[in-house]
Amino acid sequence: MNTLTWNTEQLIEQDIAHHLHPVTNLHRHKQGGPVVLVEGKGSKVRDTEGKWYIDGFAGLWNVNVGYGRTELAEVAREQMARLAFQPTFFGLATPPVIELATRMHQLLPHHSHFQFTSGGAESNETAIKIARYYWALSGKPEKTKIISRRMAYHGIAMGALAATGVPAYHADFGPLPPGFLYLSAPLAYRNNPGLSEAEFVGMLARELEDLITREGAETIAAFIGEPVQGAGGVVPPPEGYWQAIASILKKHDILLIADEVITGFGRTGAMFAQTTYGFQADITSFAKGITSGYIPLGGVGITPEIFERISAPDRMFMHGFTYSGHPVACAVALANIDIIERERLWQNAAERGEQLLRRLQELESHPHVGNVRGKGLMALVEVVEDKTSKKTFDASKGMGAKLMKVSREKGVIVRCNDTGFAIAPPLVITEAEVDQMVNALAETLDEVL
Ligand code: PLP
Repeated sequence: MNTLTWNTEQLIEQDIAHHLHPVTNLHRHKQGGPVVLVEGKGSKVRDTEGKWYIDGFAGLWNVNVGYGRTELAEVAREQMARLAFQPTFFGLATPPVIELATRMHQLLPHHSHFQFTSGGAESNETAIKIARYYWALSGKPEKTKIISRRMAYHGIAMGALAATGVPAYHADFGPLPPGFLYLSAPLAYRNNPGLSEAEFVGMLARELEDLITREGAETIAAFIGEPVQGAGGVVPPPEGYWQAIASILKKHDILLIADEVITGFGRTGAMFAQTTYGFQADITSFAKGITSGYIPLGGVGITPEIFERISAPDRMFMHGFTYSGHPVACAVALANIDIIERERLWQNAAERGEQLLRRLQELESHPHVGNVRGKGLMALVEVVEDKTSKKTFDASKGMGAKLMKVSREKGVIVRCNDTGFAIAPPLVITEAEVDQMVNALAETLDEVL
């Protein structure tokens, strides 16, 4: 146990005075300040005052192996002491980046080559640029448009932001890069007009076909999608959706980018959601769970066909970041993947995920719970003002902030906003912790609504 002590009041004061928080209501933050967290073990984290919480959001959907894995700290220490950094530009490499690329090929055998980044947005920027570069080197430089979907979240850097389909992230940051197109999210609760699941898939497939006809396949480089949409509102797709989308894209010569930033490394009940849903992308982007957040890392995998095309004899591949393949991050990733495999954490995600969804579905009888949905260890409890009209709460009512305050008082950290609770605990969560978390969320709903 940690024996350090902290001056909570001073930390909060300094945070309010000097720390610009991301994705935060800055005005409201000035009144409350942060909860300052200092240590973690398994699925739990502790604040400066000694209060323990179940981290029902695994940091930011990323601490897959849970907290307190000292073996990852040891691997980082060893690599830092041996060789803290070398780039992967100009034909240089280190053993960890070579071993990680090889390991990723074993995990995603349809991808032959991998490039690494520092996170999800950089990975999606890379994926989008590789798609355009591939078509440019195929003699089709006019194939540049990117199809995305409403409710998609692909990150906050300009290209990834343009692919993001949640208007709140776009507002007042424009102009965004042009050439991004948006389809409907495959969310039955809001977008299925009463059709069977198969007919709903047919409707979404037709929407894609119509868009391609309207824009012209010769102008479209790629479709980017999260296998299960996450930050926009946890949307597990209907059965057969990915097969339908993948086959239309193939027919029209449009690349498929799977954004597995959240779904990768076990969260949906398989190592990658492409296995869960039975499809293969041309490019896969990943981040988060690859190091379980112990150190930043992301990356993309590409098919042999893309690799061959972009390794033209007369061209330098002019893309990459200083920290593409950081040796310390890659060494931690290898040890983190060892843990996921040794402990078969995707299996726990599947088993605990079923329990989580079953328990959360009990909340559907609450007068303000409109919908409960999830896959593996990612779930959403959608809260509405009126169940019949599915009208959401007005932002001015501060519903998300109230849910957050009360759930934290009850010892649970989940993501709360005006849509409700998003839940994505570490993949090591136990049966008792799932029950404890859902009980606390049920009490929170009763108290706030
Ligand atoms: N893609 C998805 C699906 C994500 O959920 C996120 C972050 O939550 C990102 C990309 C962006 O990742 P990062 O915040 O590491 O840039």
